Amino acid sequence: MAKERLYLFDTTLRDGAQTNGVDFTLADKLAIAAMLDELGIDYVEGGYPGANPTDTELFGKAHKFNTTFTAFGMTRRPGRSASNDPGLAALLEAKADAICFVAKTWDYHVRVALETTLEENLASIRDSVKAAKAKGREVLLDCEHFFDGYKANPQYALACAKEAYEEGARWVVLCDTNGGTLPHEIEEIVGAVCKVIPGDHVSIHAHNDTEQAVANSFAAVRAGARQIQGTLNGLGERCGNANLVSIIPTLKLKTEFADAFEIGVSDAELKQLAHISHALDERLNRGSNRHAPYVGESAFATKAGIHASAILKDPATYEHVAPDSVGNKRKVLVSEQAGKSNILAELERIGIKADKDDPRISRLLEIVKEREAAGYAYEAADASFEMLARRTLGTVPNYFDVNQFDVNVEQRINAKGERVTVTLAVVKVKVGDDNVISAAEGNGPVNALDRALRKDLGQYQKYIDGLKLTDYRVRILNAGTEAVTRVLIESEDENGDHWTTIGVSPNIIDASFQALMDSIVYKLVKSGAPA
Ligand SMILES: [Zn+2]
Repeated sequence: MAKERLYLFDTTLRDGAQTNGVDFTLADKLAIAAMLDELGIDYVEGGYPGANPTDTELFGKAHKFNTTFTAFGMTRRPGRSASNDPGLAALLEAKADAICFVAKTWDYHVRVALETTLEENLASIRDSVKAAKAKGREVLLDCEHFFDGYKANPQYALACAKEAYEEGARWVVLCDTNGGTLPHEIEEIVGAVCKVIPGDHVSIHAHNDTEQAVANSFAAVRAGARQIQGTLNGLGERCGNANLVSIIPTLKLKTEFADAFEIGVSDAELKQLAHISHALDERLNRGSNRHAPYVGESAFATKAGIHASAILKDPATYEHVAPDSVGNKRKVLVSEQAGKSNILAELERIGIKADKDDPRISRLLEIVKEREAAGYAYEAADASFEMLARRTLGTVPNYFDVNQFDVNVEQRINAKGERVTVTLAVVKVKVGDDNVISAAEGNGPVNALDRALRKDLGQYQKYIDGLKLTDYRVRILNAGTEAVTRVLIESEDENGDHWTTIGVSPNIIDASFQALMDSIVYKLVKSGAPA
């Protein structure tokens, strides 16, 4: 039997942007959209053009995505015509493939919040869908508070949904805006809607206020809905939205759904899921949830005893799916052998040949364990792991030595009477037989140190000319009894290659220095600089 198509709609960049503490830049939005596009998500909602400068700029020019790039906005205001509503006009001008309108469908909200009549609200839905269709856009209607509205006045909630569908909206999105609806209620109400509107035009948008947004999404699919809306890592206001990172593998790997439905995410793309989930956390400078289903560091970690030995004999004994199907790794926490096989797998991945019986591999494992306990996170710092591995296996040339550095931060009043902070870094480097002293100013201590360090590396200078620092992230951790600073530095070179290095120290300058040094040495090794 042919599988039915089930569509995925991501709203990380719109509803996810409501998350406390999340503030996407334009560059963030473009990078995340590209990641979602590559993953095979059918719809990516980019934001709300007109609501803020970032979103207006995002929709100011066309993008080359395969996904249906979607703009979000309001239906026309009550009492105005569609052609005389600047908000609607701006939305129609947005460079988007689809428009998702939000409309009220709970009669109480129409009267009290919108202060208009039920009829005028229906007319506003109809006119807005019509105007967007006339502009050649695919249209979705977000039915705000649909489930609460349906409980209060089912005829009116349904009438709003029908109005949009009959006017040609591709999807009618049933929103559990307050997130309080339970799975059995969702199944019942979506079932009733699908009797009136075909399920392949019905979408579910669940919030996680009872921690059942994922379950609610599946309940809606069981009842006939054929589009699921959600966000990466469940980002979203309050307790978040339905987590696509949990939904996607369930749809792909659990037979109830995998046998019945096809989604836009391929098996190969599914293997990128853990990476995508972590990349988003890194970008937001948030710690990843170790216990996240499927993609968390602990999702396939087993601690000691009979479980671990059984897992080594046959992994399927304690795993509901294969970890590599979602790009995750099995971890047996206290088994020396499993740790070693992780290290060996990692060495193979970065192209370092190693013999499993080489005693240096055990040493490398010990060092990694010690350092991770001290706050290093080698999973997030590929280049630093490679440097550590190469050093432990004895294959990194000693290109140069930094004998001394000095960073001076001074705050003073300048000639214009303004308070300014000036930073100067001086480094003493020994390259071969030459002693070099370089000084540079920067907008902060790390910037000054970086500039001084890379100012003159003698015969190695030409190898690092194309090196750029593209991101710098700092986190304060509690490792053991003391607070330490972890610095992650992302670098890029003239070939567009990216890598991440790490430094950990109670002192932020020390931590930054370690990460800078690793990045420079990594680049020299990568470029084949002679020893
Ligand atoms: Zn929402």
